[in-house]
Amino acid sequence: MIIADYHIHSRYSHGIGTILENAENAQKKGLKEIAITDHGFGHSFFSMKHRDIPKIRADIDEAQKKTEIKIYFGIEANFISTTGEVDISQSDLQQLDIVLVGHHRFVESSLKDKFTYLLPNIVLGRYVSERVKQKNTAITLAAMEKYPIDILTHLNYQFPIDVRQVAKKAKQTHTFFELNEYKVNFLSPSDFEILIEEKVDLVINSDAHCPKRIGCFRNALEAVEKYKVPKEQIVNWDKVPIFKKFNKDLK
Ligand SMILES: [Zn+2]
Ligand SMILES: [Zn+2]
Repeated sequence: MIIADYHIHSRYSHGIGTILENAENAQKKGLKEIAITDHGFGHSFFSMKHRDIPKIRADIDEAQKKTEIKIYFGIEANFISTTGEVDISQSDLQQLDIVLVGHHRFVESSLKDKFTYLLPNIVLGRYVSERVKQKNTAITLAAMEKYPIDILTHLNYQFPIDVRQVAKKAKQTHTFFELNEYKVNFLSPSDFEILIEEKVDLVINSDAHCPKRIGCFRNALEAVEKYKVPKEQIVNWDKVPIFKKFNKDLK
């Protein structure tokens, strides 16, 4: 059973619920831990705002007290450049408990990066050339070297990547590879074979934008059954992980 959900959007970006409403729904679903992970600062339409950081932390503290659910202050940051930059600064990292990063189409980036990274993916989607796919992969790997990323969100959705290369790097850098409830089907049967072969740590997340969707994992669980993913490989299956910031073994 999945006992934690580490990818949730609140009103502070694209979600519709308050942090307390999210926590209360997580409690109803029997979850032990959640993370509030609003969109990164560079998202063109739905970014979290720096000025809201103290308020988010206060809301988390309050919701944690009222529900007794462990709540992490996270972010779903964005890849923004071909050299693997992500839209979070060192001082942002100090404020955050966990870091999720995903490829998103509408982010603030230089004109050059718009043309070489974002546009080819926006125009061609899953039909991009091998060259673009390798570039998406290189961006992902470079960011994993530069930032303490805990979870890579919905890989292969809109931005195809080489799953083998990312899985290997994820294993080396203690990064979790997400099975996203809405987007898990963008991973092919052979992608699942690779994830199992490489024994990469997987995390099942709802990516809920409304409190009622928290803890809904039907598609992800169907994929786990279908492809016979070992439960031990799933970090939030009957257990919870230690994220990078709190893991003394990784320092
Ligand atoms: Zn996303
Ligand atoms: Zn999301």
